[in-house]
Order: sequence, then C-alpha cells, then structure tokens
Amino acid sequence: MDDPVTTALTNLLHRLSPNHTGTVADYIPELASVDPNSLGAAMVSLHGDIYHAGDSETEFTIQSVSKPFVYALALSDLGLAAVTRHVGFEPSGEPFNAISLEPDTGRPANPLINAGAIVTTALVAGADRAEKFARIQATLFAFAGRELGVDEAVYASESATGDRNRALAYLTLSQGVLAGPVEEVTDTYFRQCALRVTAIDLAVMAATLANGGVNPVTKRSVIDAEIARITLSVMSTCGMYDASGEWMVQVGLPAKSGVGGGIVSALPGEFGIGVFSPRLDAGGNSVRGKAALHEMSQRFGLHVFTAPTGHRSPIAASDLHDEVLNVQLQGEVDFISAERIVRHLQEMAATYPLSRIDLDLTHVTTVQAAGSELLTATFTDLRSRDIAVRAISPDPSPLLELG
Ligand code: GLU
Repeated sequence: MDDPVTTALTNLLHRLSPNHTGTVADYIPELASVDPNSLGAAMVSLHGDIYHAGDSETEFTIQSVSKPFVYALALSDLGLAAVTRHVGFEPSGEPFNAISLEPDTGRPANPLINAGAIVTTALVAGADRAEKFARIQATLFAFAGRELGVDEAVYASESATGDRNRALAYLTLSQGVLAGPVEEVTDTYFRQCALRVTAIDLAVMAATLANGGVNPVTKRSVIDAEIARITLSVMSTCGMYDASGEWMVQVGLPAKSGVGGGIVSALPGEFGIGVFSPRLDAGGNSVRGKAALHEMSQRFGLHVFTAPTGHRSPIAASDLHDEVLNVQLQGEVDFISAERIVRHLQEMAATYPLSRIDLDLTHVTTVQAAGSELLTATFTDLRSRDIAVRAISPDPSPLLELG
C-alpha cells in the first residue's frame, strides 16, 4: 500500500493529466523530440525520505533549472560581492532569452535568465572549459546525489542553433562583465543545460537548498547555508521568468523552471519538490508543472508567507511554590521563543516575590545565538535583583550561561 504522501502526489497527477495545453519547446530542435505527455512529481523531506509519482524517473534536460545551482557554485567560488560585480540579483521581469542588461552598469540584472546565467557560468573557477564544466557537473551531482549524464543530442542541437545566446554573451563581453571567451563560455553553458535529470533529482536538489546546503539523502554538505539562503532568495524573486511576481503571489515558493519542462521548488526548512511536464505556456514555464505546484501549495498549505497559526509555546509548564518558580521549556529557543520566555519571567518577577527560578531544559532541542543573547541578559538582570537562576537539567547549549 502506498503511503499517504505518495497517494496525494498520484491523485494530483491524475487530476492534471487531461490538461494538454501548451507546447513543447522547439527552438532547440532536439527538445521537440521529448514525449509531450510525460508527467512526474517528487517530494523529498529533510529527513531524506523520497516520495514520487508518475514519470518521476524519466530523464529530461535540466536547461534553466541548472541556473540557481551554478549561481550557488559561483557564489561559493567568489563570494557575493565579486559575483555581483558581474551579475545582479534583481527580477528583470523579462523572458528567458531577453537582451537584459542594466543601462548604467551593463550587467545582466537577473542571474536566472540566459544573459545573467551565461555570465554566471563564466565565473565558475577552473583553468579551462573542461575544468569549469567538470566542477559544474560535480556540483550538480552533489546536489542531486547521483551522477548526471549529458544529453549529447540536445547539447549538439543547442550548440548548432544557439546564436542568440552567443549574441547575449557578446553583449556582456562588450560591457566588460563576461569573464571568458564567448565560444568557451557558451559551450560550457550549453553542456550545463543539457545535463539529464529526473523529477526525483530535482526534488533532492531542492531539498538540499531547503536544508541549508546539506543533501538530506547523501548527508553531504554541498554549499554553505548562507549561499543556500541567497540562492533561494534569488529563486523567489527571479525564478519564473517574467511570471515571477504572479508565481510568488499564487504559489509562494522559491522555484526555478526550465524549457525542458522541469520545475524545482523548495520550502526552506521543510522539503524540496521536483516536477516535470514538457508542454510550456507562453512564458516558457511547464503548464502542468505550474499547476501541480499551485495545487500542492494550496492543498498542503505551503505558501511561505502564510502566517503560521498556533505557534507552539516555548513554555511547556510554569509552577510557583515557596518563592521558587519552576519553568519547563521546550523546542528550539530562537529569538521569537526567547522573547516569550523573557516576557514570562519578567512578568512573574514583577508580580510575585521570587527567590529562585529553576529552568527545566530537558525538552529544549537547540538554543540559537539570538535566543541566548536575550535570555542571558534577562538572567543577569534577575540575578542583580537577588533572584537566582539555574538549570535543573543538563544545559543543552554552551550558549546559555546557567549556573
Ligand atoms: N538552454 C536554454 C537556453 O539558453 C535554457 C533556457 C531555459 O530553460 O530557460 O536557451
């Protein structure tokens, strides 16, 4: 028997399968040879559990979905400041192949459409094109947790017809922002776009971003958490070509789509999603892929800006006996939880005579630096008022200075 998540994915694809609107990309001739009816979806939790349905193991070319991952690699190599001298991180609101350069700097504004992505590929460290591509491939392998081959037919087809991308590269070269020769950079870019992935691969790649850069299936660290955060931010504002604003309103998940029919999407701290269906709308986004994510967002309540209801209290219990306050804390003590705890301790100290506060930390999972700062300042203040503060269980965090 299928688990309920797989059943939900299967039912979702079943509802979407009659939708045959849109057309398969054919400006790269070889892309037109894909089966237009393919439809697959996968979800990967941060525990590394993989759920999938439909054509989730069918390979297709990654195309633009490679862009955020190569952007993450360039950020790892050079840092944000250096990358930003070549390519911005603003939504340009333009189609994938737009001639999109900022008038004042000559930089492409958006790293997730072609002009910006070609400039990004050029920034990847490596002595020559072979080494640069090997590093791109190795990074995408690490994100996906398995080796990904190049679709040589799609690569050759794009290389034979990719003059518009060469033209974009020449424009960025003329502006002084392309870090390499046009032929070499575009060749690496075409190979990057021709890597073969499945919907499951995309879900693992997204889950790696959602998990702060650690692949939840292989447990390997691929990029720093800070870079995962930047990459997801850019996906939120720039990931869906000229439909990025509408996407954020309607679906509310960082995402990136490609003309091969794939879409990658992630809910930070929760899971990654990959969908695949080759027919595209006028904006170049997979019709059923978009619909699948839209429905998942609505049905499963995934929109990142939905205010959580019933935020779990960090205080499990609080009892006062003979001027001793015993407080049981629970969960992660982040800034928000610490604010609640501090408020409670201050209110109790203002209302009742207290000689001591005992904190039971048995059910505290982690203490973040921001939470520790608030608590430590409050403990100091309480002690200055002759109220002892101590932990009555092992302190789970060196961050809390408790006696
Ligand atoms: N290789 C494709 C191109 O540069 C990728 C486009 C896309 O997926 O947006 O035209």
